[in-house]
Order: sequence, then structure tokens, then C-alpha cells
Amino acid sequence: MPAKIATPDGYLPQKPETLAAYLSGIEAVRRILGGTPEKWTIAEVGDGNLNLVFIVKGPEGGVAVKQALPYVRLVGESWPLPLSRAHFEHMALSEQARLTGNLVPKIHHYDEILALIVMELLEPHIIMRRGMIAGVEYPRFAEDISSFMARTLYFTSDLALTASAKKALIAAFAGNTALCKITEDLIFTDPYRVAELNRWTSPQLDGYAARWREDGDLKVAVSRLKLKFLSSAEAMLHGDLHTGSIMLTTEDTRVIDPEFAFMGPMGFDVGAIMANFLINFFAQDGHEAQPGARESYRAWVLATLEQIMTSFRTKFLQLWRENATGDAYPASLFQGAEGEARLEVERHAYMDRLWADTVGFAAAKMIRRVLGLAHNIDLEWIADPDRRASCEARVLTLARDMMVNSGRYPTIASVTEAARAMRRDMKSY
Ligand code: ADP
Ligand code: MG
Repeated sequence: MPAKIATPDGYLPQKPETLAAYLSGIEAVRRILGGTPEKWTIAEVGDGNLNLVFIVKGPEGGVAVKQALPYVRLVGESWPLPLSRAHFEHMALSEQARLTGNLVPKIHHYDEILALIVMELLEPHIIMRRGMIAGVEYPRFAEDISSFMARTLYFTSDLALTASAKKALIAAFAGNTALCKITEDLIFTDPYRVAELNRWTSPQLDGYAARWREDGDLKVAVSRLKLKFLSSAEAMLHGDLHTGSIMLTTEDTRVIDPEFAFMGPMGFDVGAIMANFLINFFAQDGHEAQPGARESYRAWVLATLEQIMTSFRTKFLQLWRENATGDAYPASLFQGAEGEARLEVERHAYMDRLWADTVGFAAAKMIRRVLGLAHNIDLEWIADPDRRASCEARVLTLARDMMVNSGRYPTIASVTEAARAMRRDMKSY
């Protein structure tokens, strides 16, 4: 068993009883909850993979409390994980709040020793993935998530920051190695080799899993992506930006859970959103009551994905034109109308490179959700294994092509078109 993580003096995993006493000592929280601690109800949510999350309600209002454990909650003490993830989550959440305003939950209190964050209770928000499985359309989402990505990525990049400010940010997040390592192993490595933690719909997809492990082109492609993830400190990433890290209503969108935050390649965040939309698109066949019943929802999923990617590009470019305060692309090198024209061409070339990364990272995220440890309920909740395997096989097949033949996907329209064609032409696993 790997070594246990030492916890600081004063660290104690919270229980409802201890938490009520603790929160009653924080003036700001007491005011939000109202009344006295005997009047508060505290429940552990229990659907977090890594941490404890409590929902606390008082006569006046509520808060959510998230606490890191010195191990992975879902697995137990056999998988140690440092408490410092709460520190990185708090830092990222603060930075995202500064850059996006109300697209993240407000922080009410942070306790470094307890590795505990008290934040705004999001209500009646639900986890987006659950809404998308139920077939709910979210008209604000494309607008909100494209702003979130454009602003958090642009303003933490060398396009906006001085070299010293950028390096300070790299230093601030450099210690989040344990969480990065989870991504490095579970996304970029394990699905392509025999690994104890891998699982897939078996025996239906056994042949896919075996072929994926023997596919040299794929292994080169995913290794290039892994290298980029390891080495390209382009901007502050959320690091786990899937539809399970978004809580929303039709009117309000919040991004939660940035404990994987670090300075990495922008396409990793943008690709995470794309992957999860494509997975949901393919999963709809497993959820519709009769064939075709979810046709209009499928259309919404792909149209929204197109809008997210298009708006992200437009917004990022606009931020660059208006806030070129970074040390990259010095203004003194691009003066006058001619300089500006040359720079504008280069801005588009930059976005094209970011797009190519996005396609690759999206593909890696799709494959890991079918062959790796952590699956999505979009697919997992399809009870019939044959039906599920057929949806999953389409996810795998499209993802492989996106990763190995990324040049075939120069635009978001080419991706959504390929997804439609895959669903039409590939009948079964
Ligand atoms: P983990 O990192 O352990 O997976 P998350 O941050 O994803 O934990 O939170 C786990 C669950 O707790 C979420 O899926 C959601 O249901 C609930 N939750 C988290 N933050 C809030 C919040 N601010 N308001 C309401 N519910 C929340
Ligand atoms: Mg998490």
C-alpha cells in the first residue's frame, strides 16, 4: 500500500456534528445560515469522487462545504492523495471568480489546515451531465461557457500577462503534481496499455480494447498530447472541465471543482467540453424511449457544441485585440496598419493551432471514458450492455480518427458532421 499522507495538526475529516460547531464559529457563515446551529441541517452529498461535500441549510440560507481527504474518497485509504488539492482549488476558484465574475460559486471561507472551502450553495442548480441525460436544453450555456473559457485562458496566458506575472502563476500551481499525475496516467497512458484500473463493456468491446493497445499511430498521437500536457504551461486550466463539473439551471451557469487546476495547454479545457458533448450525443441512442425520440435533443447538443466553439474563438480573439498586455507579440514589432494586419493573420493562426490541440485532447478524453477507469454516467446509465457498447464503439471510432487524422477536422462543423455520419453509418459495435 502506498505511504499514507501526513495531515497537519488540527486537520480532522468533518462529520455533520463537528461541522455545525465549526461553522458556528465563522461570523460570515452564521449570518448566511441564520438561526442557531441546532436549526441547521447538514447532509453529505456523497456523489463526489475525491472529496467530502456537505450541504448545510439554515433558516435564512445555505452553504456548500467541500473538504479534501488525505486519500481518494471513492477508493479509500489505499489511494492517498494530498490535501493540498484544496489549496489549488481555492486558488483557482479565486482566480476564476476575478476573471469571470459569477460563473463560479462565491467563496465564503477557506481553511488551509482543514483543507476546507465554504462556498455558495448552488440551488436549484443540477449537475449538467444529469440534465443532458434527461434531455434538458440549456439556452444560456454556450454563451456562458465560451466566456468562461475565453476569459480564464486568455487572461492567464502570455498574451495578457507579463513574463514575471506568468511565471509567478506557474510557480503558484507547480505543486499540484499529484492531481496532474492522475490525468497523465488515467487519460494519456492507461487506456493504451494493460492496466489494472481499466474497464470497459465486456465482452462486447474486448476487441476494441485490444486493438487500441496495439495501435502504434494512436499511441504516438496520444503521447504527443501527453507531452504537450506535461510541458506547455500556456494558461491556467480548470483541468477537469467536463459536464460533471458544471452546475446550472436554464438561467444560470456555474463551473465548480477546479482542484485539477494547473498551468497547461488551453486545448485541454476546451477539448474536455467538446468530448463531453460528443459523448452525450452518442449516448442519446441509449436513453431515448423509442428510436428517434431524442432527435431534436441530439440536434441541440451538436448545435450548442458548434456555438460554444465558434463563440470561444470569437471571444478569445476579441480579448486579444483589446487586451494585448502580455509580453508575447510585442506591439513594437507590429506597428502601423501593416503590422496590425500581419498580427491579425497570426492571431488566426494561433487559434488554428489551439483548435488542433482541442481536437486531440477531446479525442483523448473520449477514449478514456470508454476504456479507462472513470466512465461517464451518460454511457454508464445505458442498462443494456449491447446498446451501450454500440454507443461506446462510435465514441471510440470517432475519437481515434480525430486523434490520428486530426487534419480531417479543420473546423467544428467537420467534427459535428463526422459525429452525425458515424451515428448514421455505424450500426453496431
Ligand atoms: P469532487 O471533486 O469530490 O468530485 P465536486 O466539487 O465535484 O467534488 O462536488 C461533488 C458534488 O457536490 C457535486 O457533484 C454536486 O452535486 C455537489 N456540490 C459541489 N459544490 C456544490 C455547490 N457549491 N452547491 C451545491 N452542490 C454542490
Ligand atoms: Mg473533483
